[in-house]
Amino acid sequence: MKTIKLPVQVEAELKKVSEVAGYLWQREWAERNAGNISMNLTSYFKKEEVQGIGTEVPFDFPKGAAGFVIYITGTGCYLRDLVNKLEEASCILYINEDATAYSIIWGGKRENFGPTCELISHSSIHLFNSIHHPENLAVVHTHPLELICMSHHELFNDEEELNRQIWAMCPEVKVFVPKGIHCTPYALSSTAALAEVTMEAFKTRNVSLWEKHGATATAPDVMQAWDFLDVANKGAKMLMMCWSAGFKPAGLSNAQLTELEQFI
Ligand SMILES: [Zn+2]
Repeated sequence: MKTIKLPVQVEAELKKVSEVAGYLWQREWAERNAGNISMNLTSYFKKEEVQGIGTEVPFDFPKGAAGFVIYITGTGCYLRDLVNKLEEASCILYINEDATAYSIIWGGKRENFGPTCELISHSSIHLFNSIHHPENLAVVHTHPLELICMSHHELFNDEEELNRQIWAMCPEVKVFVPKGIHCTPYALSSTAALAEVTMEAFKTRNVSLWEKHGATATAPDVMQAWDFLDVANKGAKMLMMCWSAGFKPAGLSNAQLTELEQFI
């Protein structure tokens, strides 16, 4: 049976997945089977290496995703298992040239394994990135506590003001999440509608905050996607800490925020 040997660069990217999965679990952002991670690995493989491995499973991908090679976590799998059971809880799949099916070419070694039910969102975002932001290869979706709480607050209805208040908490948030957070309207998990609103979010922002659900970021690698979520959530957490302590934070002034733009 034909098998695949992973290039060293891919091994290095998968190590980052394990490391970030550990962070997500420790943060209580990845309860049970919550969250999913994917990465577009197409550029690391030749067609002849990935064709003819595994069984084709029908799936209705967006047409432009034909031929993509995607690392992705499994449905029902626990992200905390990515720390040391990566080959069981995730896989690399190849999307056929008609974009009508995928085959698993690495990993997925658990019984009845299947890719995350958010496969449509992830493949749509990778297609969007390949056209608009080809440097962005990784997508991380998780449940950051304070950001989710913020998506229940009335500020969620005023994206500009939500970003201003979160950026104003400390300079790092403005510098390391420079495009800010998109207040992405509620859409049901695993639907094309959710994929649609998320792509809309990444046209302007670093983080898509899914209303009453979680947050998603895309970046060149998994570590940088984690950083967007980590820093954005820190701003939200500090803002809520001030509210909890019973005061409204003074915040950086608009002039101080503008001054920081030289570091972006
Ligand atoms: Zn989720």
